[in-house]
Amino acid sequence: MRVCVIGTGYVGLVTGACLAHIGHDVICVDNNEEKVKLMKSGQSPIFEPGLSEIMQSAIHNGKIEFSTDLAAGVAHGEVLFIAVGTPPLPTGESDTRYVEAVARGIGANLNGGYKVIVNKSTVPIGSGDWVRMIVLDGIAERQKTLVPAGGVSVDEQLPDMTAQFDVVSNPEFLREGSAVYDTFNPDRIVLGGNSLRATGVMQELYSPIVERHYAADKSLPSVPVLVTDLSSAEMIKYAANAFLATKISFINEVANICDRVGADVTQVAKGIGLDSRIGNKFLQAGIGWGGSCFPKDVAALIHTADDYGYEAQLLKSAVSVNERQRLIALEKLQQVLKILKGKTVGLLGLTFKPDTDDLRDAPALNLIEQLNRLGAKVKAYDPIVSQTGLRHGLSGVLVETDAERLADGCDALVLVTEWQQFSHLDYAKMAKLMNHPVIIDGRNFLDPETMVRAGFQYVGVGR
Ligand code: NAD
Repeated sequence: MRVCVIGTGYVGLVTGACLAHIGHDVICVDNNEEKVKLMKSGQSPIFEPGLSEIMQSAIHNGKIEFSTDLAAGVAHGEVLFIAVGTPPLPTGESDTRYVEAVARGIGANLNGGYKVIVNKSTVPIGSGDWVRMIVLDGIAERQKTLVPAGGVSVDEQLPDMTAQFDVVSNPEFLREGSAVYDTFNPDRIVLGGNSLRATGVMQELYSPIVERHYAADKSLPSVPVLVTDLSSAEMIKYAANAFLATKISFINEVANICDRVGADVTQVAKGIGLDSRIGNKFLQAGIGWGGSCFPKDVAALIHTADDYGYEAQLLKSAVSVNERQRLIALEKLQQVLKILKGKTVGLLGLTFKPDTDDLRDAPALNLIEQLNRLGAKVKAYDPIVSQTGLRHGLSGVLVETDAERLADGCDALVLVTEWQQFSHLDYAKMAKLMNHPVIIDGRNFLDPETMVRAGFQYVGVGR
C-alpha cells in the first residue's frame, strides 16, 4: 500500500521504516530540512537499535523516500499517518498545534482518492473528531482560493471531499530503545474509528505484522487487533501509560518504606511479581520515571479529567511520589557525604533509559540542576551522549568520554541509567581513582556485594 508518515521522530521514522521493510511504499515527510537531508543520505537522526539497517535496506529497495513536501506526501498516500510531537504545555495539557498544522495541511492538499488519516501521535481524547474538523477547514480554505476557470466551476475543481477520508486513532506503544523490535512484535494493535472501511484498510496495512511474518517468534498466534471507537482508542494510550507510571510509583513507595524498615525491595518485587495477577514487569524501584511520554501523558490525562469535572487523585499521587523520587539520589548523597557544596558527583548515564539518545525529561537533568544548586560539581558519562553532539546541549555538567575519567576525582557516583555496559566496568580501578568511593545505585542495577568487593560504599534504593 502507499503510505505517507508525517513527522519523523522516534515514532514516525520507526513506523515509516518498518512499514517500508514489510513491503509498503512509504514517503516520510518532515518540516525539518536538516533531518530530511540526513535521512535521504541513509542516516538516522535518532539512535534506535536496528533502525539504520532497515532504513538503508528500504532506501536500497526503493521502498522509502524522505521529503519536506507535504503536498507530495498527501498525493502519494492512501494512508496518512500523523506522527508529530504533542509536548506538554505548562498546564499539563497536550500542545496539539503540530497536529493541527498537519491536519490543516492535509486538508489543503487532499486530492481525489479515498484516504485514511491516522492519529499516531498521542492526542487528547476527542482528537479524532477534531482532526476531521481541521481537515475539513483546510479543504474549505483551499476552496476559497479557487476561482472558476476555463468554464470549470469551483465545485467541479474541488468536489465534496467529506466522504473521501476517514480518521482512525492508532495509538503507538513502542518503547524507545527497542522501537523496531516492538513494531514487529507488538502485544496488540489498537484501531479506533467510526468507519469499517477505514479500520479495514488499517488491518490490511498491518496484516504482515499481525500474522507475525516479521516477528522474532513466528510460531506465536496472531497479534490481537482491537477495533474500537475513537475515544476508547485514544483513552487506551493514556490509560496504558498512566497504569505503568503508577506501577513504578507504587514500587518506589514500597522501596522508601523498605529503606526505613530494613527490607529489600528487589526481593519484595520478586515476591509480588511472581503473583500472576501482578506480574514482574515495571517493578524496578529507582530514581523515578521520566522521558518524553510518561510525564506528559499522565499530566494530560489528569488535565482531561479536570476538564470534565473529575479529580484524578490516584494519578496525582503517582506524579507526586515520582517528583519526590526523582530527588532520592540527592537525599542519599546528602546522607553519605553530608555537605555537597564543593564536592564532585559523577553520573553514570544521562538518558532517561538505556539504548536511546532521548534526554527529554530525563531524571538526570533534575539531578544536575539540584546538585548545581547545592554547589556540587557534576560530571557524567553516558555511552551515547558522550559520543554525540547531544553533549553540547547540556549545561551544568562536564561530559566525560569514559567511565574511568568520570570516576577520577569524584566524591560519589550515581548510576542514573541502567546501560548494560555499566554491569561490567572496572569498578575496582574506578574506586581507586575517586576521593570517596561511594556509589548510589539509582536503578538497583548493580550487585551490592560485587561493588563492596570493588571497594565501594554501595547505596541502593530500598535495599
Ligand atoms: P519527536 O519530537 O521525536 O518527532 C516529531 C517530529 O515531527 C519531528 O521530527 C518534527 O520535526 C516533526 N514535525 C513537527 N511538526 C511538523 C509538521 N508540521 N510537518 C512535518 N513534520 C513535523 O516525537 P516522537 O517522540 O516521535 O512522538 C511523536 C508522537 O508519538 C507524540 O505524540 C508522542 O506522545 C507519541 N509517542 C511517542 C513515543 C515515544 O517513545 N517517543 C511512544 C508512543 C507514542
